[in-house]
Amino acid sequence: MDEQYQYQQRDVPPRPHKAFRLGEGKISGFASVCLGALSLLAVLAYLYPSYLTTTELRAVYDAKELQQVLKYGMYFSLFFGLLTFVLGGYRRLGLTGIGLTSTAFLLGGWQIPVGPVAPKALSLGVDWLILAFLGSVFIFMTLEKLLPRYKDQVILRPGWGLDLWYFVFNHLAISAILLYANYHVSHFHWAVSDEVQAWVQALPLWVQVVAIILAADFVLYWEHRLFHEVGFLWPIHAVHHSVEDLDWLAGSRGHFIQMFSERAMVMVPLYLLGPDKAALDIYVAFAALQAVLIHCNTRLHFGPIKYLLVTPWFHHWHHSSEKPAIDTNYGAHTPIYDWLFGTLHVPSQHWPAHYGTTKPLPRTFMGQLSYPFACWLARRKTKGAD
Ligand SMILES: [Zn+2]
Ligand SMILES: [Zn+2]
Repeated sequence: MDEQYQYQQRDVPPRPHKAFRLGEGKISGFASVCLGALSLLAVLAYLYPSYLTTTELRAVYDAKELQQVLKYGMYFSLFFGLLTFVLGGYRRLGLTGIGLTSTAFLLGGWQIPVGPVAPKALSLGVDWLILAFLGSVFIFMTLEKLLPRYKDQVILRPGWGLDLWYFVFNHLAISAILLYANYHVSHFHWAVSDEVQAWVQALPLWVQVVAIILAADFVLYWEHRLFHEVGFLWPIHAVHHSVEDLDWLAGSRGHFIQMFSERAMVMVPLYLLGPDKAALDIYVAFAALQAVLIHCNTRLHFGPIKYLLVTPWFHHWHHSSEKPAIDTNYGAHTPIYDWLFGTLHVPSQHWPAHYGTTKPLPRTFMGQLSYPFACWLARRKTKGAD
């Protein structure tokens, strides 16, 4: 630990013009647009489920029950849209929300019949996008409002639009990611042992879950560490680190090469251990929630749990651009491997004063998408010039 380092308080500049305040019409305007866009997407998913829903997810939810959620989403979008006109401000947002919902009504609304779905190998995860967005807003945005770490950090902080785009892109790509991950693990068929898998399945459920978390995190730790410490790989992962205000949405920022390789690598230990489906389902839900939670702008206290599981405080330090924190706290699920392999940075009560990369990255989606390629090209040119 760096004893000499002077830890400072983070200074969040107030952005009153970006804040949401009751009575202005901005909250209702945004709510109307969000619900309208989600409703229209949901209607399209009901119309073309083979192409716009995820096979794995369809097994989890009841499409008929979700029609009720869609019904209320559409009505609330209209209600909030009209409310913006009553309140007087942000009418354009209200009009957009009403327009999106009206289109959803014209296309059949929530009454589109639900029938059997012919599964396709590759589809767009519109259902995953809608459910993850609604779930994240309800759980994590509420948490950030009730227990914020940085009270002055606004929802519409710099880069929120870019991160929303990443959120959309990464959720739509879920089926392509799973397809690639399954293809990747199929190369490890030779390493599967029936005895090991039978032994794992005989363990109590909670032991299986702990075993999966530890095995998965071992892979994630090393994969993450390589992304940081191998010069060639860093430009890919630098995209995730370019965010300078962390919140529930910030964790979505990640280059597609990282998204694909991370899922493919973490699938290997799960495939080899072959646990019960219930244990696997618990792990997937845990991993998905933790990945969002650790980026949240929250001061929620975890007590002694912080020694066992990665918390927002732990992962916020991973995102710090301050010297003692660089290349530390690689764990995705637990701090155990950072402790074992000497990369732990846990300065008691302090939080980072600065986030982001030491070298600025492009601030657009396309700029960040091409960033690793631009770095590799520049490196080749300098090598050629030597
Ligand atoms: Zn990292
Ligand atoms: Zn992160």
